[in-house]
Amino acid sequence: MIICCTEQLLKKLTNLITIMEKTLILIKPNAIQRGIMGDIVTRFERKALRSAGMKMMFLTDEILAEHYAHLVERPFYPYLKASMQAGPVIALCLEGAEAVETVRQMVGVTNSRKALPGTIRGDFSMSGEQNVVHASDSVENAQIEINRFFKEGELFDYESAVTRFEYGGEETLKYMK
Ligand code: UDP
Ligand code: MG
Repeated sequence: MIICCTEQLLKKLTNLITIMEKTLILIKPNAIQRGIMGDIVTRFERKALRSAGMKMMFLTDEILAEHYAHLVERPFYPYLKASMQAGPVIALCLEGAEAVETVRQMVGVTNSRKALPGTIRGDFSMSGEQNVVHASDSVENAQIEINRFFKEGELFDYESAVTRFEYGGEETLKYMK
């Protein structure tokens, strides 16, 4: 049993392609204007989340209405729309074990004034609207959102030299395929 597990583990550690859970981040126009996009990316890098894709893009009315379909009827939607179209966003696809839940915790609650210190919104924003980042709220929505913002060929699987220092053996077996 131990030999079998070790072989399986070695195979995964030496495999170039490791598939972990993916999530979608949007660095909002307000964060780009304020010059904190690097700080935000650094948070995720330091957490050992791997970037699978990154691009700058302007959000059309259509993609925005689809992305915020749960909010289009709300009175604040015109303000949200204007803030999301005030400039380009950066779409970032991050990968890691339980990445969706971990990133939501790192981002903090919607109203930045209530977001805990140490979270991205808690540390970088005072606003419920101009709250610097979007992050997927479930594994199912993450997949939908990744497909919304990234075309085929825009996401990358590549060897990470440090994965074995970022995850333990049991975690490698559980989370990497
Ligand atoms: N938003 C707002 N006023 C509200 C609720 C939401 O302006 O009362 C904006 C805010 O920018 C938020 C986005 O709409 O990030 C999406 O709302 P959601 O409830 O999905 O919050 P999130 O998942 O971003 O925390
Ligand atoms: Mg949301």
